[in-house]
Amino acid sequence: MEFRDLKKQYQVLREEMDRAVLDAMASGAYIMGPQVRELERQLAEYVGVKHCLTCANGTDALTLALKAWGIGPGDAVFVPDFTFFSSAEVVPLEGAEPVFVDVCEETFNIDASDLERAVQEVLAEGRLRPRVVVAVDLFGLPADYQAVRTVADRYGLLVLEDGAQGFGGTIGSKRACSFGDIATTSFFPAKPLGCYGDGGAVFTDNDEWAELIASYRVHGKGTFKYDNVRIGMNSRLDTVQAAVLQVKLKAFADYELDAVNEVAARYTELLQGLATPVIPAGFRSSWAQYTVRFASREERDAVQAALKAEGIPAMVYYPKPLHRQTAFDKTPDQVGGDGKGVIPGSTGNLCPVATSLCERVLSLPMHPYMGLEEVETVCNAIRSALR
Ligand SMILES: *Cc1c(COP(=O)(O)O)cnc(C)c1O
Repeated sequence: MEFRDLKKQYQVLREEMDRAVLDAMASGAYIMGPQVRELERQLAEYVGVKHCLTCANGTDALTLALKAWGIGPGDAVFVPDFTFFSSAEVVPLEGAEPVFVDVCEETFNIDASDLERAVQEVLAEGRLRPRVVVAVDLFGLPADYQAVRTVADRYGLLVLEDGAQGFGGTIGSKRACSFGDIATTSFFPAKPLGCYGDGGAVFTDNDEWAELIASYRVHGKGTFKYDNVRIGMNSRLDTVQAAVLQVKLKAFADYELDAVNEVAARYTELLQGLATPVIPAGFRSSWAQYTVRFASREERDAVQAALKAEGIPAMVYYPKPLHRQTAFDKTPDQVGGDGKGVIPGSTGNLCPVATSLCERVLSLPMHPYMGLEEVETVCNAIRSALR
């Protein structure tokens, strides 16, 4: 069994995909070709925002947003403690400091009340300016933007939506990547909308930020490519990847998003009684992961081993909370990678929910081409492991 069956997806889309890729190769415009512009228009329309700017990957997309806002030394950027490394990695790269915020046990997403506590702690310490909150749409579920926005507005924070896993999710009639002041996504192959390599995109309604990002992604260009008005990046999308994404976006919107929701519904039905993912009323997930919470590390590890013995891949996303990552050892106001060195005034019990989740979560095979009988196989294996 595959964890995410991208080869099966290719078999289904093969004819259309081969034609699109070969056309791009014959065209001669290999970077930011016409397919890229067309894709950006389609993505902006799908998401429901004014501007979409593609770039080289989802990490660069976050960096481009921070650059557009001029985030730098002395700035605090609030990041959930339970997410992929990139969400926080980009912050020290700009010279700013990540401040880790706990998440909600049931949704895995940022806890707005802990965000407020963290902002107040930073203000009381007086060393950093609170500037941005990164709200991650983890595992495909949009964060609680109503709650995040309330706190952000109270303290004048900009909201950066990290929608790398969230593309296709909705709250009411609004789509993911439209909730942040700037939103980003990733087209890494295993994400809800992936290409055949690296790719990413930035979304915003703001004309000024869009113009800055268009400049930053091409070496800080001014009126033309060899007029460089700021220090930028080389972060563009390949034409071949745009061609791949045009084919995949159509399948995604036509049936893949519905298909993953059917797979998820079947899991939830068959795993009744376990701590399965909670989708709040009015929310829809794009199911980057289907993640179950177990009672303890021992139980989780035993289930994972039992599944492995039956040839079923299951993954731990994520084994370490960000505040325990060695790379953030030098971040002054956090617990170091050695678990020591809590700053005065902090609770000394940093992000307990995120820390506990890392010990108990397990993500199961999930993709739009998964048969419902495969879901039954996985669930039966989990049931017998727990017996
Ligand atoms: C994958 C991911 C990223 C980074 O995307 P890349 O395209 O791999 O650079 C950022 N944030 C989250 C939450 C992700 O899952």
